[in-house]
Amino acid sequence: MLPATSASYPPSFQLPAASHQLPGDQRLCRKCKRPIDAQERLNKRYCNAKCRAFVWSRAHRQFSSTITVADFENIREQIKEFEGRMGQRVLWYALLKEHPSFPLADKIGKSIFPPKDRKTKRSPDETGKICFSDAPYYNFTAFFETPRVPMVGLYQVKVWLEGDTAPMMTAKYVDVRKAYPAVHFYDEKTGQRYTLKGEAIPPKAPKPPKPPTERKKRKPATAIGPQPERAPSTARVPEVVPATQAQRVPDAELVKKIEEEHARERADLLATITKERALRQETEQKLVRATSMPKPPAKDDRSLRLEAAAKH
Ligand SMILES: [Zn+2]
Repeated sequence: MLPATSASYPPSFQLPAASHQLPGDQRLCRKCKRPIDAQERLNKRYCNAKCRAFVWSRAHRQFSSTITVADFENIREQIKEFEGRMGQRVLWYALLKEHPSFPLADKIGKSIFPPKDRKTKRSPDETGKICFSDAPYYNFTAFFETPRVPMVGLYQVKVWLEGDTAPMMTAKYVDVRKAYPAVHFYDEKTGQRYTLKGEAIPPKAPKPPKPPTERKKRKPATAIGPQPERAPSTARVPEVVPATQAQRVPDAELVKKIEEEHARERADLLATITKERALRQETEQKLVRATSMPKPPAKDDRSLRLEAAAKH
């Protein structure tokens, strides 16, 4: 039955059913593709504030991919100038800065970039390839590796001079004009990373182990179709096999690999057999239980309906 409110208006006052209100035409969140409740306002595009915020921040951030080597030319020039004064080439360099929040900066000291003891993404090399490295410095002489730091601003420069055994801290500061939101200040002693606001970043949960991949079984030749009969080879088989071939000791590494492969196949097979056996036992037990138990009587809801009717 129609609600009283809509019934009291003439039909022309009723809103036509929009297509997105029709059942079966479910609106989906533009971010996570979860359905949006039909009761929600008609122009709702995201299922919740988190999805909306995610899309907004993506649309408004500066993409790291738009940062180029030209954005750091001032740094390259300054280090070049330093080389000139020292009369020595700078092989590598690193940048240091304190976290902008003072209590935290006091606690963790300066962070050095690239981060120590951590494999981090690096700017493209001279071939344009982006790689990851745990080297505690950026290249300078081999090619100019641009820094990846968490915020723009002045950074102190540490250098590795050609011919020197230890790096040296310079009194030089360079102005870094591009930053990467994925890079963070960190405590060198513990490795703990912090957001720019000073919040500790929880360590990444370890990746769950991959499920064992199912081995593809090779189709038997008969399944592929009739095979053309091979004509007998006309090539003569040499009667004397060269000594180097006949007496070659099988590659120890290869033998080990094959043995490992066999062991893995055996283990896979065993696991499959065990699983199937367990499944069969379970099914059998279920069957036994089902046949031994008396069937519950079919529910008769007539009395319930009568009861309900009596209440009204
Ligand atoms: Zn969503």
